Amino acid sequence: MAGTVHHWISGSERPGEGGRYGDISDPATGKVTGQVDLASAEDVQVAVAAAKAAFPAWRDTSLAARSQVIFAFRELLNAGKQELAEIITAEHGKVTADALGEVSRGQEVVEFACGMPHLIKGSATENASTGVDVHSVRQPLGPVAIIGPFNFPAMVPMWFFPIALAAGNTVVLKPSEKVPSAARWLAELWQRAGLPDGVFNVLNGDHVAVDGLLAHPDVRAVSFVGSTPVARHVYETGTRHGKRVQALGGAKNHMVVLPDADLDLAADQAVNAGFGSAGERCMAISAVVAVGGVADALVQKIKDRALELHVGDGRRSSDMGPLVTAQAQERVTGYIDAGEADGAELVVDGRKVEPDADGDGFFVGPSVFDHVATGMSIYTDEIFGPVLSVLRVDTYEDAVALVNENRYGNGTAIFTNDGGAARRFQNEVEVGMVGINVPVPVPMAYYSFGGWKSSLFGDTHAHGVEGVHFFTRGKVVTSRWLDPSHRGIDLGFPQNR
Ligand code: NAD
Repeated sequence: MAGTVHHWISGSERPGEGGRYGDISDPATGKVTGQVDLASAEDVQVAVAAAKAAFPAWRDTSLAARSQVIFAFRELLNAGKQELAEIITAEHGKVTADALGEVSRGQEVVEFACGMPHLIKGSATENASTGVDVHSVRQPLGPVAIIGPFNFPAMVPMWFFPIALAAGNTVVLKPSEKVPSAARWLAELWQRAGLPDGVFNVLNGDHVAVDGLLAHPDVRAVSFVGSTPVARHVYETGTRHGKRVQALGGAKNHMVVLPDADLDLAADQAVNAGFGSAGERCMAISAVVAVGGVADALVQKIKDRALELHVGDGRRSSDMGPLVTAQAQERVTGYIDAGEADGAELVVDGRKVEPDADGDGFFVGPSVFDHVATGMSIYTDEIFGPVLSVLRVDTYEDAVALVNENRYGNGTAIFTNDGGAARRFQNEVEVGMVGINVPVPVPMAYYSFGGWKSSLFGDTHAHGVEGVHFFTRGKVVTSRWLDPSHRGIDLGFPQNR
C-alpha cells in the first residue's frame, strides 16, 4: 500500500493539518516506500469529534443490526487476509505466513465479537421485593481510543476494536507510525462491511496523537499496547484524566526446561518462539532456563537448529525476516556486543548473517548466548530481537525464583513430562499467561490476554469477557409498576419486603 498514508476520519481519507510526516520503510530492502501523516493536536480534535458525533446513532443501532456489520466484516476479512498479510510483511518485515497467522488470530476476536448479543446480556430478577423487579444491562462507553505497537499491525488492534464496536462504542485507532497501512486497509473494510461513517476512525501519528487522545475529555477509555515505559505513561496520564485504561507493556518471557523434558521438543520450541517474527513478539521466548544439567545438550540442539534457519525477505521462502527499522537493528546488535563484553558465551552470532534479500535491509540473524547471568543487560532488558539467552540453574525452585524475580510477567512456559511439576509451576509462577509444553501461550479470543507486573497497567486484560467488560459499563435498574398498595410515605432506607 504505502504511498502517503493519511488519517481516515468520518469514512474518508483526510490529510493532516500539521504538515508533519514520518517515513515508512520496507525492512527487507531498507528502502523508504512511503510517508505517513503525523497528527497535530488539531487532527486529534477532528478525529475525536467524528467519533463523538457518530456515537449516539451507533449506540442506538439494534444489536441485531450491529452484529450483521461485524459478521460482514468477518467475511470480508477472511476473503482478503492474504492481501492484508502482504501489507504487513511490506512494512513490518515478518514472513508472509507469519503475517497471515497474525491476521487469523485477530479474526478470531472478530468471530468472538459476533456473539455480542449473548455476551452483553444482563440478568433479571422478578419480585426481588414485593412487586419490585431488578435487571442489569451493560451499555457502551462512547468514543474509545486504541493505540497499537508496531509488531502486530493488525492483530493487536483487533484484540480491541471488534469488541468495542460490537458493544456500541465508536473508535479512534492510532496505529504505530512504523506500520500504518494495515489500519488504513481495515478502515476501508469496515466501510465495505456497512459500518456507518465516523464509527471507526484512524488517526496516524506519534506521541503528539497519543498525548492528545489521553487528555481529550470526550475519550472515555484507552486500550494501549507497547513498551513498558510508554504503557506506564499512558496508564498514569489516562487515569489522571478520568479515563478507563488498560495498558499492556513489554515482556521478558522465560522457558523453563526441566531435566525430564523431551529436549528435541524443547529445542524446536525455543527456536520457534525465540526467532519467530525475528523475536519481535511480546510473547517471544527470550530466556531459556535450563534446570539441573540439561544445558549442554539443550544448547547444542538449539544451536544446530538456529544455524539452519533461512533468513531473508519475508516475501521469499524465509523462516525469519528482518527487524522493523535500522534503529531496531542497531539496538539489537548493540545488545549482542554488550552480552559478549559482559562475558556471556555467544554460541550463535546473528551479526554475521547473510540474508536472502535485495538491498540493505535491517537484518540480524538468530543469536544464542549461553552462561547468561541475571545482571547482564541481555537478561535484564527487553531486547525485542532474535536473541536467545540460556541461563543455568540447579533446581526447579531456583528456576521459579528466577522467573518470579523478573520485573515482567507476560508469558512463560515450562517443558517437562512431569504433570506434578507442571501443575506446581502453573500455581507458583507470577506470570499472566502460562504454557505447559507450549512455548507461546497466547490465549484464545474467548479467554483474555494480559500479563502481570510491569507487563500490564490496569486490571482488565484484552478480549474475552474481560474485554466486553472493559468496553461497557454496568447499570442496574430497580422498577415497580403502579399498584395502589404502594401508596404511602416512608423516609426509611429502601428495604426488601
Ligand atoms: P512503543 O511503546 O514504542 O510504541 C507503542 C505506541 O506508543 C505507538 O503507537 C507509538 O506511536 C506510541 N508512542 C511511542 N512513544 C510514545 C511516547 N513517548 N508517548 C506517547 N506515545 C508514544 O512500542 P513499539 O516499539 O511500537 O512496540 C514494541 C513494544 O510493545 C515491546 O515492548 C513489546 O513487548 C510491546 N508489546 C506488548 C504486547 C502485550 O500484549 N503486552 C503486545 C505487543 C507488543
